[in-house]
Amino acid sequence: MPGFWLRPLTNLGLIALLALIMWPIAGAVWALLGFSLFLLGYILFNLRELKALNRWLANPQLRTVPEGEGLWEETFVLLYQLARRQSASQHQLSKALERFQRAGEAMPDGVVMLDARDQIEWFNPIAAQQFGLNLETDIGHPITYLLRQSQFHEYISAHNYSEPLIMKSARNPEITLSVQLVPFGDDLKLLLARDITRFEQVETMRRDFIANVSHELRTPLTVIGGFLESLQDYTDLSEENRSHFFGLMRDQTLRMQRLVEDLLTLSRLESAANPLQDETVDVPALLRQLHQDAQGLSHGRHPIRLELESSACLQGAESELRSALGNLISNAVRYTPQGEEIVVRWEDCGGEVRFSVKDSGIGIEPQHIPRLTERFYRVDRSRSRETGGTGLGLSIVKHVLTRHQARLEIASEVGQGSTFSVIFPATRVLRAKAPVAV
Ligand code: ADP
Repeated sequence: MPGFWLRPLTNLGLIALLALIMWPIAGAVWALLGFSLFLLGYILFNLRELKALNRWLANPQLRTVPEGEGLWEETFVLLYQLARRQSASQHQLSKALERFQRAGEAMPDGVVMLDARDQIEWFNPIAAQQFGLNLETDIGHPITYLLRQSQFHEYISAHNYSEPLIMKSARNPEITLSVQLVPFGDDLKLLLARDITRFEQVETMRRDFIANVSHELRTPLTVIGGFLESLQDYTDLSEENRSHFFGLMRDQTLRMQRLVEDLLTLSRLESAANPLQDETVDVPALLRQLHQDAQGLSHGRHPIRLELESSACLQGAESELRSALGNLISNAVRYTPQGEEIVVRWEDCGGEVRFSVKDSGIGIEPQHIPRLTERFYRVDRSRSRETGGTGLGLSIVKHVLTRHQARLEIASEVGQGSTFSVIFPATRVLRAKAPVAV
């Protein structure tokens, strides 16, 4: 920057020239004194500007860059431009950091950033929930102080993070977490934690389901196998015994058939490729048919009353509703002792409409009620089997009702009987114009 020197040297040259001109006129002393005074002023001026620069450097803010004069003006302008560029890139950097932090906070999994000594540098709100961490007190603390499970300590000290660690949440032991450490940068680590509770539940359900189905099929198959062996070994069986054996084998075959049919129904209901049909279901007519079926099933052992107090029809799938409501009615017949009454009712209930079946049967203890719609859940296994139950009926009911946005309510008292009610939402109800004949 040759221009930088031009101005001060010109100024100094001019003053030196002035001093030289003064020399013969005012004498050497005055000329040197004048020149010295000018130099002193020049030094003081520069010191003042230097002080301004020094003060600014102690607290460099874009809006307080000194203005300066002469040589310093240009320096301060350059300084201002530099400070502006720096402030712009700082702004961009903090925006990028903010975006990264927001992305971390928005992640559906827990994220904890650890330094080289496994101390917490940062974590997102999900990690705070999963591990019970607190932003105000836990930053800077070693993660192992806060997550005290021995399996986690073993995992972190093993230095092999290729597989995740499955552990219970410290905060809520009902939550299962899949935790994995991901090393990055200079000995830093990311601790990623995913809530796999639902996945584990589904996995347990799947295992239980397979075990249950196998168990349900094994018993009838063992019985049939046993009879077939007997028939093979004892060729001289009497006609009476033979027909007794065949009868028992037929019962077991029917039992397996019912089970497979119920399983297929459940699988159809659960299949995403099976959307709900939208037909108009004449529920009063359907209930009259189901009433007749129930009488057939009861063989006249129970008085079964049908009370059609509403003419409402429903929008939905007739076959599914037949299966669900039929299941509830047949359960009432199967779990009600001979001679006790059963009442099937269809009634309006505000804008909604309610189906109910009330029996005077054995009733159900309260602790069983929330679990009745689970697959294969039975209060009394042998009673269910004796009456031809598969343990899947209420599970089918629940699926059908969910597909129709309806809810199931169960009220029961042991020894007094049970009422199973289904409430269909107003959005599914179609009102018939003419009153229905009961
Ligand atoms: P199941 O084929 O065993 O009847 P469900 O799924 O239909 O299977 O019913 C599950 C269990 O709920 C039954 O095993 C029985 O213990 C109980 N249950 C269902 N309905 C009634 C009822 N009306 N009265 C008493 N218990 C009932």
